[in-house]
Amino acid sequence: MKAVYVPLTGMDNNNVLASTQIVIEEALRKLGYGDDMIELLKEPMRVLTVRIPVRMDDGKTRVFIGYRAQHNDAVGPTKGGVRFHPDVNELEVKALSIWMSLKCGIADLPYGGGKGGIICDPRKMSFRELERLSRGYVRAISQIVGPNKDIPAPDVMTNAQIMAWMMDEYSRIREFDSPGFITGKPLVLGGSLGRESATAKGVAIMIHEAMAKQGISVAGARIVVQGFGNAGSYLAKFMHDAGAKVVGISDVHGALYNEQGLDIEHLMDRRDSFGMVTNLFQNTISNDELLTLDCDVLVPAAIENQITASNADRIRAKIIVEAANGPTTLEATRIVTDRGILLIPDVLASAGGVIVSYFEWVQNNQGYYWSEAEVDAKLREMMVRGFNNVYELHTLKKVDMRLAAYMVGVRKMAEAVRLRGWV
Ligand code: GLU
Repeated sequence: MKAVYVPLTGMDNNNVLASTQIVIEEALRKLGYGDDMIELLKEPMRVLTVRIPVRMDDGKTRVFIGYRAQHNDAVGPTKGGVRFHPDVNELEVKALSIWMSLKCGIADLPYGGGKGGIICDPRKMSFRELERLSRGYVRAISQIVGPNKDIPAPDVMTNAQIMAWMMDEYSRIREFDSPGFITGKPLVLGGSLGRESATAKGVAIMIHEAMAKQGISVAGARIVVQGFGNAGSYLAKFMHDAGAKVVGISDVHGALYNEQGLDIEHLMDRRDSFGMVTNLFQNTISNDELLTLDCDVLVPAAIENQITASNADRIRAKIIVEAANGPTTLEATRIVTDRGILLIPDVLASAGGVIVSYFEWVQNNQGYYWSEAEVDAKLREMMVRGFNNVYELHTLKKVDMRLAAYMVGVRKMAEAVRLRGWV
């Protein structure tokens, strides 16, 4: 039976799912697919909502809500992180699972996209409460995940320790050691060398490629990084080490600016495990001032909807590289593209994390572990190939970089769906 296609109209541009669906539809149409394919791929094939009871340190039980979304598994098992954040919601997790499909497609990994999240604030929870929550989440979703089904990983405010608890819980449930169930693990539990800094390394590679296209040299270039978590802090360090000047950084408390370049090593030393550091300083600037600083490269590395119609015409960067997921709205994408700013979209720029997660999973499956140099070389090769494919389509078809990235990202999945005879 042919699926009935429901067109998307009047959606709120800041709704990340709605804007993802608009671009997915455009990409599939440009690739020559019809309504049935759009109807299938515009939403995840599966979304599980779970309630997780957790015994808190004060003896009371708190019930947390968690999600796991699986976009499509025509290409292979689904893959993607789990975020712990008070703003997690179903629409966001759904959109994030679609973005994971696109990242995997651009990098040509044998995966579809997945994503999970728990509504919680890990900054206000103890170590043991976090352990109980992580284990409870795995028990709640264990039926639909697994090394050949759906493979979680770290995301916003989750880390290698949380992956270790989750892997241990899954191994206990299945009654055999399952390192390939989850990636981003500590090294001694089957993690991969280079995984922790992989997203930032991938973003740094994209900055170099984008600067080469724009004829800007890295030495002395002015970089602004919004967010000082895993991606933002490592990226600031890599760009500083490469000879660029990181003139601005921020966290949720505020932003720091120094036109001579900030002392990144000092800031890395002082940051806490959630990336908080600006609270230690007096002279901070606002988030809006940070985003509109005069610079060569602006890297939003925090959360969604940061560059919007209200600030896009004031952005003074020559290049925007999206290290976060969804930091620029669709309207803002149009505004900055029209203004001649080269935008490297999230699904391309931040694919480094899932690429090295794939290497980790391959190493777990083979029981054979690679050197960091091997990981880095393969990461570079995949990121540069992805960049070239997207940039080429962008110039050839005269479409913006986001649409080009979506087209490259979804085409393998659509083809796999068609060949399996699902549509
Ligand atoms: N959470 C990361 C992302 O959004 C990594 C996902 C993974 O490694 O599977 O790309």
